[in-house]
Parts: sequence; structure tokens; C-alpha cells
Amino acid sequence: PVRTRFAPSPTGYLHIGGARTALFSWAYARRHGGQFILRIEDTDVARSTPEAVQAILDGMNWLELAHDEGPFYQMQRMERYKEVIAQMLEAGTAYYCYMAPEELEAIREAQRARGEKPRYDGRWRPEPGKTLPAVPAGIQPVVRFKNPADGVVAWDDLVKGRIEIANAEMDDLIIARADGTPTYNFCVVVDDWDMGITQVIRGDDHVNNTPRQINILKALGATVPQYAHLSMILGDDGTKLSKRHGAVSVMQYHEDGYLKEAVINYLARLGWSHGDDEVFSRAQFVEWFDLDHITPSAAQFNTEKLKWLNAHYIKQTAPEVLAADIAERLAKRDVTIEGGPDLAAVIALYRERAATLVEIADAVAPYYSAVQADEALIAQHLSEAAQDALAALAARLQGAEWDKAALSAAIKETCTEKGLKMPQVAIPLRVKLLGVTQTPSIDAVLEVLGRERVLARLGA
Ligand code: GLU
Repeated sequence: PVRTRFAPSPTGYLHIGGARTALFSWAYARRHGGQFILRIEDTDVARSTPEAVQAILDGMNWLELAHDEGPFYQMQRMERYKEVIAQMLEAGTAYYCYMAPEELEAIREAQRARGEKPRYDGRWRPEPGKTLPAVPAGIQPVVRFKNPADGVVAWDDLVKGRIEIANAEMDDLIIARADGTPTYNFCVVVDDWDMGITQVIRGDDHVNNTPRQINILKALGATVPQYAHLSMILGDDGTKLSKRHGAVSVMQYHEDGYLKEAVINYLARLGWSHGDDEVFSRAQFVEWFDLDHITPSAAQFNTEKLKWLNAHYIKQTAPEVLAADIAERLAKRDVTIEGGPDLAAVIALYRERAATLVEIADAVAPYYSAVQADEALIAQHLSEAAQDALAALAARLQGAEWDKAALSAAIKETCTEKGLKMPQVAIPLRVKLLGVTQTPSIDAVLEVLGRERVLARLGA
């Protein structure tokens, strides 16, 4: 059975790259009827925070990337790691190293001076027929993994193809520090083993850890999972995606008015493709997704494309459904919708042309709050003649049928009566009603606002 995991370090929010890794791991498990596990890698206590854990959970939750097991926390698994270290010491696949840190630094210094790659010299590594130094007093040993001395470690990366590293290139990794705490790579290995992970899908910043992890897994007699290392994501300008590029936290996209459907669709296409398909649902993605269509080269973020997808999904979403989201956004701005026009009806006027939910919220807010157009707009559009025309229109609206045809007729008649052109009435009307010069067709605006509100805003 397929078992994948997402293993974030809780040192910040869930960013776009992490969300894509999570999505691919989740989708792979779903596609194969397997399990998706969430593991929080919180052993870097100085940088891990409960707020970051929450931010990651919030992001996963928003995107509906539900895990089947977990979240597991590495800090709660310390006893287990220590147990495995003890077993390895017992089995001779790990050993105590009493080299003082200063001594190690001196060796490395000398190696660097000779132009060599700094590495541990294997002094405490037990070998048949070798006599180890006498154990010095007062030194707390670290534990090192006894890496195979020769041969190669190789794997067929599901994204990058075959990768081979000579064991001679790797020194004996510290798996427990002098204070007994296990190190990062070791915890990952024990977890992937205990959790029965079959496919490790992660960012390619971890590709250098993989040969070490495979060697330790083999020493433990564990089945080595398959690995898929996803290439990094570049910003719009082709440099590594970072805060400079604007929103990188997934929840920021929520905040900025993106629908999760659009974000999921967008992330799915970030380094993965299915023919020419650009727009597809989550269910369709799960059905199509496989690791062999992931591009090994870096994927470039394209904000315009995300916006385009978002506009598409907004158009597809029923106004009644959008209304729940928009109501929350308005509440945050202290705009109350109670007593105002029907929210779904107002949203329906804007849904076809909006790229984000924030744009919709901006457009519909004046339907609910007392409108105060800014001075410049008033000076420009509400001349005496315009005010006079609006008063005449208000009189007509008192007894008009309240449907678009009748409302449109009332405006036209007012134009004729006052010798004005359509925009000379319609624009002042928009400024007066909503504080803006541009809206969807004015008869539709009047219709959703309703007679009472229109007349009240016209001061009639
Ligand atoms: N905790 C690592 C990170 O946040 C991921 C480790 C892994 O997937 O093996 O980058």
C-alpha cells in the first residue's frame, strides 16, 4: 500500500513550495488508495514555534489536504530515536566518537589548508584488527553512523532519474550529539521507516541528504522507499521564490481573495503537466496525477496565470456560495450586510468580471455602508444640473415598476426631460448611490438596491 508523508519544519507559515509538496504527496496517496501522513519536524527547538505549527495546519486545512495519520511530532518521539541509536551501537552499525570538537575543527582546518574537502578522519571508527585510542576522560561522546567504506549508494529518483554517490565521498554522520539528542537526518530515517513510507516526495534541497538516509535505512534492515525530489519554484522574474515576490504564504492568497480551487489547480500545474490541460478539478487531478509527469527543471511562478484561473473559478462558483466568503470579508471591514440588499444578488453583478474575491468585496461594500464619495468626485460629477436631474429621476422612481426595463426607461425619460445624455445622468447617479463612477449596468444596480435604498440615497 502507498504511504506518503508531508514533513514540514514549523519555522514559518506554509509557503507555496511546501503547499505544492504537500499537494503532490497527498494526491499520490489518494490516487493509489493509500495513506497520507503529516509529520511535524520540530527538533530545531530554537526555530520551531507553536504558531508556525498552527499556520501550517491552517494552510493544509484551507486547501483541504487532509491527512490520514498524524500529525506526528518528532519532539514526542525522542525515546524512539534513542532506542534505535542504542540498537545500532549494539549491532555495530554506529559507534561512539570521543573526538573533542576543537580537535575535529583542527583536523578540518588542516584539511582545508591542504585544499581537501573537510571530513572526519575515522579515528574512532572500529575496524577489524584496528586498535582504537584510549577513551579520554571528561568527554561526552557523539554517536556516528558507520557509513559503508566503499561501493556506491544509488537510487532511481522518480523525478531526477538515477543518482549515484560513491560511499568514499561520505564521512561517518553524527546521529546523536554529545547531549544524546538525535540529529536531523537520523530522525527522518527512523520516522520514514516506522511510518512505513513508500514514496518520499520532497523538495530537491534534500537531495544531498538522501544517500546518507538510504545508507542508514539499509543498516537498519529497512525497506528503502522511492524518492521523488521536486525542483524548486522560481518567482515571476526567474529568481528563487521568496518574500520579495509578494505573497508566498498560502494563507496570504486566501487573504488576497483567491479561491482554494484556483490555488490547487495552479499548484498542480507548477512542475507537473497533463497534456495541454490547464483547468481541471481536484478530483480530475487526483485521477491523472503521477510522478512520471513531473518536470525536473525549475517551475516558474506566474501570478497572471493564477489570477486568470481565479477569475475562472469565481465565474464558476454560485453567487450564494461566494456570499459566505464575501460576508466574512465585509464583517472584517465592519460592514454589516443585515438590512442591506441581497448579497448573492449583488455579487452576481460582479462575479463575471472579478479576478479576486477582494475585488468583489471592494465593489459590493458600498451597497451596505453609508456612501460618502470623495470631494473630488462630488465636485466633478455632482454639479447643480446633475443634482437637478437626479431629483427629477427620484420623482419618477417613486412610482416606477421595479424591474430593469422600467428603471432603464425612467433614466432615459429623465435624460430627455433635462436635455442630457445618458452618462450625464448615469455617472452622477453612480457617484450618488455608490460613490464610484463605474458599475455594472445602472438599471441592474438600481434593481438590486431596491426602491427604498435608492430613494434614501438620492435624498428623496
Ligand atoms: N522538514 C523538511 C523541510 O521542511 C522536510 C524533510 C523531508 O521531507 O524529508 O524542508
